[in-house]
Amino acid sequence: MESKIPYKIYLTENEIPTQWYNVRADMKNKPAPLISPADGHPLTIEEMNPIFCEELNKQELDNTTAWFDIPEPVQQFYRMYRPSPLVRAYFLEKALDTPAKIYYKFEGNNTSGSHKLNSSIAQAYYAKAQGLKGVTTETGAGQWGTALSMACAYFGLDCKVFMVKVSYEQKPFRREVMRTYGANVIPSPSMTTEVGKKILADHPNTTGSLGCAISEAVEAAVTTPGYRYVLGSVLNQVLLHQSIIGLEAQKAMQKYDIKPDIIIGCAGGGSNLGGFASPFIGEILRGEANYRVIGVEPASCPSFTRGKYAYDFCDTGMICPLAKMYTLGSQFIPSANHAGGLRYHGMSPILSQLYHDGYFEARSVEQTAVFEAATQFARTEGILPAPESSHAIRVAIDEALKCKETGEAKTIAFNLTGTGYFDLVAYQRFNEGTMDDIIPSDMAIAESLQHLPKIGNE
Ligand SMILES: *Cc1c(COP(=O)(O)O)cnc(C)c1O
Repeated sequence: MESKIPYKIYLTENEIPTQWYNVRADMKNKPAPLISPADGHPLTIEEMNPIFCEELNKQELDNTTAWFDIPEPVQQFYRMYRPSPLVRAYFLEKALDTPAKIYYKFEGNNTSGSHKLNSSIAQAYYAKAQGLKGVTTETGAGQWGTALSMACAYFGLDCKVFMVKVSYEQKPFRREVMRTYGANVIPSPSMTTEVGKKILADHPNTTGSLGCAISEAVEAAVTTPGYRYVLGSVLNQVLLHQSIIGLEAQKAMQKYDIKPDIIIGCAGGGSNLGGFASPFIGEILRGEANYRVIGVEPASCPSFTRGKYAYDFCDTGMICPLAKMYTLGSQFIPSANHAGGLRYHGMSPILSQLYHDGYFEARSVEQTAVFEAATQFARTEGILPAPESSHAIRVAIDEALKCKETGEAKTIAFNLTGTGYFDLVAYQRFNEGTMDDIIPSDMAIAESLQHLPKIGNE
């Protein structure tokens, strides 16, 4: 380690940003609004208030305010686990024998094990400030449910989590973490909601999906007094809260005069990619700098690279507002052999618009290649990465290897969103050689896209 750049760059607690950044303020083409599935009119705040928290709805609809003050209680909570380190991956660079400089922002240093706590604590704060009794949500791999359970425990809110059945069964330990924080965890689809009963009647053997769990959580929220529904990704407000990641990274880079050439994040619903990259994309939009930004998605759920930019249902039960986004169709369910998260059929409307306008690239990667990257990273850098995060690692390594060929010393920064401790079943399959790559056929995607709503797409 001859360089003057330390292995880990920490900001001090007093350097943690006190405002979130809203990239919509700098976008010329704003993301398309959420619209009503009944007649296609853009939803008003009055229509959204029975479903979501009021203050969060204001954030959701605000396309012009660039900076939002982070409430003091949220800033205090952030101090428990932030700032997160920006790490120079010296050991990985050495193993790859690359001239590239690789940095990662590590968001896995809290009990939820991921970046999701950055938004759950904000959402729980606004729910509490509104005087609500509790919130409902869905969780796939379990990270969001865990993050929300922690946040609700902190602010004294009830927390009802609909957990995709296959994860509920495969990840009993994740469930216990949520219960320890006081959450009520229900496998989805369940018999506790009308939409769950209907889905079970139509598909008795289904292992569930995120879209289906969303339908149940929304129904439970609107039918229980004092409850609202909260969401861990996709929505504009979530990208806003997650901007703390990119803002910290930017500040740490400025401190050491680091200028990234390539910025990489994995993409499921887009919240970490949006949060990490949007302060940098803001610089591009304002004409201050230029970066290559790459979103990485699984080949088994390729919304950006093989989906369509259209209005679609956010949930399988088709009861939520419609969002314009890159989508594989709300009926798309990725192969059950796909490990970990990143299995949502759609994508953040903000990122969808930015991608559509050419502000970043997307790439899809196969899961065995992802786990090879994860293994190499674990063995060199010490951290056992989450499968989701490892999509970003895969592309960071690929880009670093390209630098080895060309001799360019590019600076690559990626977001390491979480730890892999809760995904050991996936690691087991990889280690035993039983993991394979199942990629949806063009026909399967086309079939699913036939069910796009007419509303909004005429
Ligand atoms: C949820 C999750 C993701 C994907 O969600 P995005 O909203 O696309 O960021 C990525 N990594 C980890 C560790 C997660 O828990």
